[in-house]
Amino acid sequence: MAGTAEKYDHKTREPYWQAWWKKEGIFRFDPNHPGSLYSIDTPPPTISGNLHLGHAFSYSQAEAVASYFRMKGYNVRYPFGLDNNGLPTEKLTEKEEGLDASQTELASFQQACFRVIEKFAEQYRRFFERLGFRWDLNLEYSTISPEVQRLSQSVFLKLLNEGKIYRKKSPILFCPVCRTSVAQAEVDHKELQGVFYDLVFKTQEGQNVLIATTRPELLPACVAVFVNPSDARYKGLISKQLETPLGKRVQVFADERVLPEKGTGVVMCCTYGDVTDVYWVKVYGLQENIILSERGVFAESADVPLEMRGKSVEEGRKILVDLLKKSGALVSEKPIAHEVGVHERCGTPVEIIPTEQWFVGILDFKDQLIEAADKINWYPSHMKKRYLDWIQGLSWDWCISRGRFFGIPIPVFYCRNCKGLVLPQENELPIDPRLDKTPRSCEKCKVEFGCDFGVDPEASVLDTWFTSALTPQINDQHPLNGRYLSKIYPMSMRPHAHDIIRTWSTYTILMGLFLHNEVPWRDLMISGHVLAKKGEKISKKSGGGKLSPLELAEEYSADALRFVFFGAGLGKDVYFDEEDLQRGRKLVVKIFNAGRFVLQNLRDFDPQVRPSSQLEALDQWILFKTAETAARMAEQLEAYEYGKARQIFEEFFWRDFCDNYLELVKGRVYSQAQSRHSAQYALYHAYLSILKMIAPFLPHVSEEMYHCEVDESCEGRLLSSHDKGYFFKFEQRPSIHLTPWPSEVPEISLAKNMLELGGVLTLRVVREFRVAKTQVVKGERSPFTEMLVLCSDEEKKILEPFTQDIKNFSKVESLRLVNNDTTQVCQNNNQLVVLLLSKEEEPAKQL
Ligand SMILES: [Zn+2]
Ligand SMILES: [Zn+2]
Repeated sequence: MAGTAEKYDHKTREPYWQAWWKKEGIFRFDPNHPGSLYSIDTPPPTISGNLHLGHAFSYSQAEAVASYFRMKGYNVRYPFGLDNNGLPTEKLTEKEEGLDASQTELASFQQACFRVIEKFAEQYRRFFERLGFRWDLNLEYSTISPEVQRLSQSVFLKLLNEGKIYRKKSPILFCPVCRTSVAQAEVDHKELQGVFYDLVFKTQEGQNVLIATTRPELLPACVAVFVNPSDARYKGLISKQLETPLGKRVQVFADERVLPEKGTGVVMCCTYGDVTDVYWVKVYGLQENIILSERGVFAESADVPLEMRGKSVEEGRKILVDLLKKSGALVSEKPIAHEVGVHERCGTPVEIIPTEQWFVGILDFKDQLIEAADKINWYPSHMKKRYLDWIQGLSWDWCISRGRFFGIPIPVFYCRNCKGLVLPQENELPIDPRLDKTPRSCEKCKVEFGCDFGVDPEASVLDTWFTSALTPQINDQHPLNGRYLSKIYPMSMRPHAHDIIRTWSTYTILMGLFLHNEVPWRDLMISGHVLAKKGEKISKKSGGGKLSPLELAEEYSADALRFVFFGAGLGKDVYFDEEDLQRGRKLVVKIFNAGRFVLQNLRDFDPQVRPSSQLEALDQWILFKTAETAARMAEQLEAYEYGKARQIFEEFFWRDFCDNYLELVKGRVYSQAQSRHSAQYALYHAYLSILKMIAPFLPHVSEEMYHCEVDESCEGRLLSSHDKGYFFKFEQRPSIHLTPWPSEVPEISLAKNMLELGGVLTLRVVREFRVAKTQVVKGERSPFTEMLVLCSDEEKKILEPFTQDIKNFSKVESLRLVNNDTTQVCQNNNQLVVLLLSKEEEPAKQL
């Protein structure tokens, strides 16, 4: 390649383009853009601390897809959002500001949260900017903003009014560490090491009955004992009374849900150990006995041994086990591995505690949720089954109240007299009942008693998913929507990772059915996770340090890092592959170097001058291959298969364009022949198409090369600090990202099958030549002066138009296509004979 010394410096060039995009508003959403709307329901990242490789991974995949649709002429509406109304933000604030939310005055704690949000929001924006994100920050929304609070509370009141939301005292899943209710969707199942303790219960006749349990600490809450009706061993026990090791009397019931082979086949029903206990209490009308407080510690209850009161679950278990051992009621213990439901956020086993909570009646809508699955395109399609399995397995209504401090308050008051609901007016929203000082009263009591009893506020906030489930509506109502205001629903696409199908997908679909009677999007693009090593999800703990995305972007370039993220198939988890990072870096450098060669040789070329004669066969071939590659990539990208698209690009770029076309065409490019213009024409269009095809993946180097220019005043070096460069001048679009996706050029006149086959045969001859040359001599100079290609008549016809380029490339004095039934071929040292195999053979894959 012609001699210039400069290199592509991503450390300065990437930030340059990021700032330029922002300054020029390249990715600003224009409601009046003529293309059809392609709206993306971006996952708003949760403000929980630093972003890690996992975020960079899945967000980049959707980002590339968005960028592709923009080039296809769609009016892409791609917003950024922040999810900052939940427990993670609260926890972060406690850490950042050294506060304990429960010990801080509510208003000042909320202020602290807003300070922390502001600080981290800026970090989040910078993070994605540094990775080259092409979204519109003007469309940013925050799930704690007054507008979103108003929307969320208004939806709450509407659904309450329609009877889809209700309040009830009911056993709920509860995390004793986070001290909050937890939805079924927030519970992970983890195998933990536990112990099976054999406890001795006694019949009235004084006989021992052994019960094996992993939760001896719940013994004070034992309200009944169950056996299986078909279990012959215990037939005599049914309906009898047993005495627990703590001296309480409980009745024995028979129920199919007892598994005779598990433990001793006799189980305690405690309020509450698991979902079965909840079921039994309801079905058998048992009196519940609650021993765990909402603080997750043992209550000051007469049934709880004195030593256990005020202690945590873990501590209480140890104390009771000791007591039972001393009394002889614990006769044996053996370790077991068992599955425990844990809070996904903190890994603590969840408890079941009955409290007053608000619920969305999701169980009544199972059928509609199942039907909705067919109205959405799932990418990849098997994710639909995950959703359906989840819906079918739902056994709890969605608990939406959280006893936390920072979040969207539940807009409800209670009458101090009749405990009935007192609701705010719509025009009072958003409202925080906990801080509201407006005098209000219950109409019913006022009329009945003629006096004002006043109200108490609801103290809980909404589950953060309640608001996240409204992101399509939040997007729909954005003030910058112009003519699309209130017309964005349903959206075109929602991207997210597979682990939140059970929460974000499910709840958003439910809200969509409630509010619009329509599913929220056309397409769901479900990504996987990037793993640090086997089975380890990258998180704050494992994703910092040497896998910090910003540090990797600094060292290898954001483009190279992004390249890695497209290596995974859609929906699949992958290990982070540092080798792929090197490949990404090599690709960036190669695009730059190829571009330098192309630009150096286009200095006297004007693409507006159409070729006066037919293009050379080789030039037609590369243009044909380019268009074909673009079409194949488009097909994959439209199915969100970015991994396959990347692979198609790489095969074309490295093999067809760099290794073969550029090498074969050099001879003509350096000559002054008439055919030079044909080569320039092909170089211009093929290289520009290459920049376009890689632009969704590598936003920076593609923009750089679109604006690069040869600096005539400086020995023909490339001038890069320029935003009105060579390709821009002719294409007249300010950015490569606003150019149209490549399509076929009209100058392809030869039949496609002739080009395809001609290319295959040419590459085969070239490969044979390269192999033969390296066998004979090392170095540049070819040992051959003559080449004979043995082929059929048909192949001869196809290959003929390519021969001049092959000749230039191999620097032989003569190249002859000889019919392969020629009996004798005279061979000397300077003569290379290439035998073309029959064309049915597989085309050469790799040179
Ligand atoms: Zn927790
Ligand atoms: Zn009242």
